[in-house]
Amino acid sequence: MYGYKCEYCDGIVRQRTVEREAFKHRAGFVILENVPIGVCDTCGNRCYHASLLRRVEEIATRRRIPERMEMVPVSVFA
Ligand SMILES: [Zn+2]
Repeated sequence: MYGYKCEYCDGIVRQRTVEREAFKHRAGFVILENVPIGVCDTCGNRCYHASLLRRVEEIATRRRIPERMEMVPVSVFA
């Protein structure tokens, strides 16, 4: 899924499975859990495989049912 050269530096993007990663979609936030993301071993840049972004798109546009919902705190800073 990963293991290619970083687009920002000379490092290698390596796969790392993280407990949870938040994605900002135009239709709202989606959190994926136990998800294999790519992290550059030099600059730390995070990359997401197309299959992850497809899942986020499906959840955000309600074409796929999420396992559960979480409330997100909102504060108006003004
Ligand atoms: Zn890098």
